Amino acid sequence: MQKNDLIELEITDMGVGGEGIGKADGLTFFVKDAIIGDTICARVTKLKKTYGYARVEDLVKPSDLRCEPRCPQHRRCGGCQIQAMDPKAQLAFKQQKVRGNLIRLGGFAADFIDAVMEPVVGMEEPYRYRNKAQFPIGTDREGNPVAGFYAARTHSIIPVTDCLLGVEENRTILDMVLAYMKENSVSAYDETTGKGLIRHVLIRYGFTTKELMVALVINGRSLPKADRLVERLVTVPGMKSISVNINQENTNVILGQETTCIWGQPYITDYIHLRDCSDDRFALTDTAVAFQISPQSFYQVNPVQTEKLYSLAMEYARLTGTESVWDLYCGIGTISLFLARKAGQVYGVEIVPQAIEDAKRNAALNGITNAQFFVGKAEEVLPEFYARNTSGAESEEETVGNEASISGSGAGDMAHPDVIVVDPPRKGCDPACLDTMLKMQPERIVYVSCDSATLARDLRILCDGGYELKRVRPVDQFSHTVHVECVTCLQRVK
Ligand code: SAH
Repeated sequence: MQKNDLIELEITDMGVGGEGIGKADGLTFFVKDAIIGDTICARVTKLKKTYGYARVEDLVKPSDLRCEPRCPQHRRCGGCQIQAMDPKAQLAFKQQKVRGNLIRLGGFAADFIDAVMEPVVGMEEPYRYRNKAQFPIGTDREGNPVAGFYAARTHSIIPVTDCLLGVEENRTILDMVLAYMKENSVSAYDETTGKGLIRHVLIRYGFTTKELMVALVINGRSLPKADRLVERLVTVPGMKSISVNINQENTNVILGQETTCIWGQPYITDYIHLRDCSDDRFALTDTAVAFQISPQSFYQVNPVQTEKLYSLAMEYARLTGTESVWDLYCGIGTISLFLARKAGQVYGVEIVPQAIEDAKRNAALNGITNAQFFVGKAEEVLPEFYARNTSGAESEEETVGNEASISGSGAGDMAHPDVIVVDPPRKGCDPACLDTMLKMQPERIVYVSCDSATLARDLRILCDGGYELKRVRPVDQFSHTVHVECVTCLQRVK
């Protein structure tokens, strides 16, 4: 067999990245856009000793798990890896992905995982669910500014202003930004040269309030003729906040550190409700918390599923009104404030200062006085707090200059809290954070994760440290992509 050969492949499995997997001539092939159950004619694109890559040339017999994808760009765009898969099959794929990672990477027995794992929570209408979009801006061959998405695994922009996962307002706003750029000769950023001004357009939409926020990420200090853009954007119903974010670094990171509001408020407001998930119907309850969100803060992108996710986290935390709780990686305090309503005391920790400002404001906005928030890395704040607030603990007498070094009434409780909730980014928890969590010996740990591989790794450490995995439930926050969120609960056994 050689590169460029045509082969027939039966797709018998799928990898964690959504690629189809099939065997030919004793070699395992990975094929993008192929789905389990497909028989395909594939062109070999790369060959190694035991495996290779191939491209779908023809669908000989399509899988029963296929459906008609709504987005014509789904194969070119890197965003939706499995949009051609029936939504039910997507859920089964995600359930299997989490299960497989817990077994393979977490070292848990398959029977055990099957006993503790509950079925993935799906959503009814898996399109137009995202409340946030970040469109890169570039220039087409004719020199016109374009907005769109990066083609899979590249940095070339496919012009798309209406992603079907996002709200329809995105297109209106992008068309306005592009028209403003063209009329005023405002350049798009070029990654290869590092020249040009507009890098990205960030749009946020509050599903419950219909408020809109736009932030232009620019490679410069200011936006020329900004009033001409503003006068257009303010005509969009719901527009509440227009900002400029400065990012002059040569980096893939979208947002820079500095944001200036050029019109309206520096935030939008949204509400999150809890849902009663006890009988698995996820019925809306009347417990709502209002959140003000600024451009740089993290906010869950799928509001419908977020309510289910947080409701599960709350259920797993089993609060009665008196508990001391840490919420690590708390963002703008979303989970923290729900926890605070049912706990004695909540401490939130988050690395982004703007998010902590939002969290404090959000606590006040909701009249919540038993939640405190600290800026810093969870893996630094927690160990420093623990060292300072436990007698005879390994307290290195360095000054930490962080608010979390507070002690006094209640601090002892917080050194040995009842519950710790963690919701880290994809890379999971730092070992120093996990180590301190184990030392603090909470009754329960609720681990919310957006990457089941690092979740599996961390759960292994926590279980080896004296905890038992009690409940696992994936929640589909990102339909049509291979990503899946997961809520888990651990109970202390020794
Ligand atoms: N629980 C929140 C945020 C979860 S996202 C919510 O549901 O909205 C993860 C958050 O962790 C982000 O806000 C990110 O800024 C923050 N973060 C990343 N690394 C961190 C670290 N080392 N310590 C504390 N927070 C961190």
